[in-house]
Amino acid sequence: MGEDVETLKRRLPLLDYLRQHNWTGHPASRSEFVGLCPLHEETRPSFYVNTRKDVFYCHGCGRGGDLIRFVQLSRGLSFRQSLACLDPEIAPEVDSSAVLKEAATFYQQQLDRRLEALDYLHRRGVHDVALLRELGIGYAPGGALRRYLTAQGYSFDVLRRLGLINARGADALYQRIMFPLRQGEHIVNLYGRSIGSAFAHRFLPGSKGGLYAWEKVRNCSEVILVEGLFDYTVLRQAGFSNVTCSLGTHLNDTQFGQLCEGQRTVYVTFDVDENQSGQQAAEQLAQRLVVHGISARHVLLPEGHDPNSFFVQGGNAHQFQSLLEAAQP
Ligand SMILES: [Zn+2]
Repeated sequence: MGEDVETLKRRLPLLDYLRQHNWTGHPASRSEFVGLCPLHEETRPSFYVNTRKDVFYCHGCGRGGDLIRFVQLSRGLSFRQSLACLDPEIAPEVDSSAVLKEAATFYQQQLDRRLEALDYLHRRGVHDVALLRELGIGYAPGGALRRYLTAQGYSFDVLRRLGLINARGADALYQRIMFPLRQGEHIVNLYGRSIGSAFAHRFLPGSKGGLYAWEKVRNCSEVILVEGLFDYTVLRQAGFSNVTCSLGTHLNDTQFGQLCEGQRTVYVTFDVDENQSGQQAAEQLAQRLVVHGISARHVLLPEGHDPNSFFVQGGNAHQFQSLLEAAQP
């Protein structure tokens, strides 16, 4: 990108740009022109352009810099936006994970300000502030992210491509508790859990990545696998550090491969639904793991429960530990 900027500046010297924008300058020395400052009101010229260095400096307002800086100042744009407006083709390649990180940060800032979000977390039994921060949990109120990211210089097209906004330009995540999904240091997706009546689960387009927070447990000889992030959160809160989450009962190849990385016992703790779908998924997964040489136990929660509701309705760490111990291969 640095090279592109240099090429652009060689192709479009500052003085040419200024003249294209109706600036009049008079020679002041061999390599200098002087004229009225386009950045502030003045009657006596104090705006100097040095053609050898391709920079400007105004003795009136004290501002100076190169072509990009001038566009930033004169048009109130970010560095990125200025480049895009000078030459759309050299606008820097956008790093998706950087945009997702900005979005996640914005959502994190909203959490403390939104009573409805805190209230929902409370109902789901989540109260450990340090854990909320560690996991980067936030809240997407809807209707505010686009403005925030646009001000950072990200274009409509980029936000649209990442699925952060829909075709009409509205925020995709609306009234949802947000969990960033990471792979190593990078955020690869955002998960949104509706606090209202909208469809409960939502990811942005693209992969959900590997198992949630896998780095934390990959060396554990015993791993508790749950299907939902609120299950994960309450177990961590109850003191179980060897938990991971598959974000649904269907594991993708990456996730299944992670469980099979080394010798371990996996405690599959999916929801116990009335229609038996959670139990069936847990049993099928346990069988697949055994075929791959991994020891698996199927943890049976009381009827109609998932780990989250188990804790919300008064279950404690000691009782959950008993369920783990009672789990059958
Ligand atoms: Zn000035």
